[in-house]
Amino acid sequence: MFTRNDFKKEKIKMRKNNRWRKRILILVICLISMYGGIISVRGEQSSTVRTQTTSQVPKIKVVVSILPLSEFVEKVGGNKVEVSVMVPPGASPHTYEVTPKQMKELSKARLFVKVGSLIEFELSWIDKIIAINKNMLVIDSSQGIPLMGKNPHIWLSPKNAEIQVHNICEGLIKIDPANKEYYIQNKDAYLVKLNKLDRDIKDSLLKVKDRKFMVFHPAWSYFARDYNLKQISIEKEGKEPNAKGIIALIKQAKANNIKIIFVSPQFSVKSAEVIANEIGGRVAFIDPLAKDYIKNMYKVLDELVQGME
Ligand code: ZN
Repeated sequence: MFTRNDFKKEKIKMRKNNRWRKRILILVICLISMYGGIISVRGEQSSTVRTQTTSQVPKIKVVVSILPLSEFVEKVGGNKVEVSVMVPPGASPHTYEVTPKQMKELSKARLFVKVGSLIEFELSWIDKIIAINKNMLVIDSSQGIPLMGKNPHIWLSPKNAEIQVHNICEGLIKIDPANKEYYIQNKDAYLVKLNKLDRDIKDSLLKVKDRKFMVFHPAWSYFARDYNLKQISIEKEGKEPNAKGIIALIKQAKANNIKIIFVSPQFSVKSAEVIANEIGGRVAFIDPLAKDYIKNMYKVLDELVQGME
């Protein structure tokens, strides 16, 4: 029989049980939160350790001769490389002299990327550059690119740039084979952009009938060849024209309906201005050595299309 008394006893037992349950519950919650705390502290510790290890992995020191090459190396090497450039912005790779500070930098580099296309600064310095650091791998970015005589400006053809990027990628893999996949992925992503640039240049030039442009320094020979344009150079064999030469160029500009004379920041604009005045045109800047290669090439394309329309 279940009496009233039994019921009371049962109730007290249940209360005691409930009290124990509560205590156990509180204990469990405490334990869980403590454990969670430990885990999160551990998590923080391990992530701190991880960041320290990443920042401790030394970047591969790469020296390149001109700014567009530093862009190519950075695009392929990503966060694994630290790039410095020999010919600074505004200087000309035809006449540049390496500084003692740069020689010191070269002695710490693991990779040197040269244009490789008979550019004067490289021709006169390459032996000294190699001698200062015999452990440094030297990459000739022009490997596989047929040269147009002694014209060194290979990088201004996006098709050539693709080959240069490929050569740079191979160099990085030689030095750091562990990150081969990373370099290949970066290279492929950049090649897609270069390929698009090439197609966009072709498309934009379709409408241009008068395909001649006049420029002070003949840096655009490879570009002109690839896109069926004609580059008329004011400078002849590295020299500014004399009065007679300028008169001939004015005639040539008028005969070809040229309205814009292109100049670059590394060279004198004097003779270009004289010609522009005489033909009632203007001078426009296009940079063969800008760092942001793709952005710059679109800018150049815009200027050239305007100049030839
Ligand atoms: Zn040049």
